[in-house]
Parts: sequence; structure tokens; C-alpha cells
Amino acid sequence: MTPGPRHHPDDAWIAAAAGGTLDPALGLLVVAHGAYCCTCAQRFAEYEAVAAGLHCTSVAPEPCRRTQERLSHYCRQEETACITPSADGDCCEKPFAGLPRAIGVLAEAACRGKGWQSNGRGARFLSLEPVEAPGTTVRLYDVGPQGCVSRHCHEGREVALVLRGGYRDELGRFGPGDVETVPPGVAHAPVADAQGCVCLAVTEGEIRILGLDGLLVRAFRALRLIR
Ligand SMILES: [Zn+2]
Repeated sequence: MTPGPRHHPDDAWIAAAAGGTLDPALGLLVVAHGAYCCTCAQRFAEYEAVAAGLHCTSVAPEPCRRTQERLSHYCRQEETACITPSADGDCCEKPFAGLPRAIGVLAEAACRGKGWQSNGRGARFLSLEPVEAPGTTVRLYDVGPQGCVSRHCHEGREVALVLRGGYRDELGRFGPGDVETVPPGVAHAPVADAQGCVCLAVTEGEIRILGLDGLLVRAFRALRLIR
């Protein structure tokens, strides 16, 4: 039997997501984690039942309420089918295959917009812009075998969910369904496992790419060669 995730979202986030009061981007990540983790999916359902009893969603701000409806719909589809992590390393050819449905839908929409952008060696990302999260960056990273995301830090917190494969960085090793929280200002440089990695990252505030990669990005932006 494949072991489940070892790193889980904060219980307070699960409660807030179920009540419709969590930041929509983080809510998406928390619910997507539930597709890999029966324990957290069950906690979500319990909190959701409590929130319904308290009529919490009736006083949630409008964007949160819409997100809650979207996430609840997604959760019902996934709650009886915890994902078995795939050993399939074909993440470059089929980046969305086998991902939680809500993530795949957002990613396909993002492909029709800005599309994939390079980030580091063997790494690329999609900005999932439809998520209503002012001041927050929501990206889907697709990193090839042993590829790495450029060393970077962030103004605020960064929370990542591994959707397929795995990676390691200065804070540990993370596999399918694992959630990593990187505190504000902490630099890290994730490196994918041998089978590559697809993950969702929710980042608060500016992302600053460090070192030579950062100098190149800033130079290319100044020349308007990249956005
Ligand atoms: Zn969990």
C-alpha cells in the first residue's frame, strides 16, 4: 500500500476552507490536498458540516462564498476517491494527466492565456490567474527529472502542494500530497526527484529570484524579452 502524505496543511486552514473564509488560493490548495489525504478530507467534511450548522457561509464575503461553492463541488467529486500517487514519470508530455480535476481545469485555462514560462533549469510554470486572490501568486510548476527551480525567496509565506512526483529543498523532502510551508524571507531552491515533479505553489507578495538567474530575469524584463 502506498503511504499517504507526511506533511499536512494546518488544521485551522482546513476549518477556514470548510467555512468559506480561507483565502481562495490557499483554499484551493487545502482541498486539493484532500484528494491525496483521506484524513484531511474527512476533517474538511466534518468542519463543513459544522459550518453549515452555524450558517457560516451565509456571512462569508462574496468571493469566498463563490470559491466555497466551487471547492465544495470539487470536494464531493473527490472525497470518495483518494488518489493513489502515480509512478508514471511522464510529466512533461502529460502535465495535467491524473491531477485533481479543479487544478487541471485551471491549468488548461492558463495554457490558453500566458502559457508556460521558464523558471530555472528544466522547470516551467503556469500562472493560474482565474483564482481570485489579490496579492497572491498561484502557479503550477512542472519540473523535469532532477530539474530545479531557481533559488528564490518571497515577501510573504509560500505554500506548496506536490501533485505528482516529488522534490527536496533546504526544508525537507516532499512527495505526492505533501504540503510545504516556507516562511517569509526564507530562500530555497527546490530540486525535483528522478521522476520529476508537478506541484501547486501559493505565494504571498513578491517572488525574488536570487543569484545569476535573478540578474538574468531582471535584465530580460528590463529589455521586455519576458513578462
Ligand atoms: Zn492530510
